[in-house]
Amino acid sequence: MNEEAISELILNAFEARTKSYCPYSGYAVGAALLTESGQVFMGCNVENSSYGATICAERCAALKAVSEGERSFKAIAIVGAPRDAKEVSDYAYPCGICRQFLSEFGGSDMTVIVAKSIDDRKVFSLGELLPEAFSSESMK
Ligand SMILES: [Zn+2]
Repeated sequence: MNEEAISELILNAFEARTKSYCPYSGYAVGAALLTESGQVFMGCNVENSSYGATICAERCAALKAVSEGERSFKAIAIVGAPRDAKEVSDYAYPCGICRQFLSEFGGSDMTVIVAKSIDDRKVFSLGELLPEAFSSESMK
């Protein structure tokens, strides 16, 4: 991915973060998912009073993409920080469930970007964050 595409995806993640529903943790996360067809789907964390029903920003974006017919993910950018923070001071890495969920449609070469700002970011492959992923191949 080129620098411009990465920056654009990070900006989308920041925008998505503004929609976060996080009354319980106060930790707002935004994600922007780029599919192989070039579409961008944005997601935020959506918490629930029954905590286990909470969904992460990454899966929110992924579900929106798949429900719109997208099955091949190219990259995702993730931004997370306390809701009222003036700036993002830490990288928000995807949780284990989200890593597994993304691997269903992204594969090990999917790009995963965690960012504090457009300039302060880390870029990984999903394979780096989830080595030896479980897949349907494992069941054969
Ligand atoms: Zn997650």
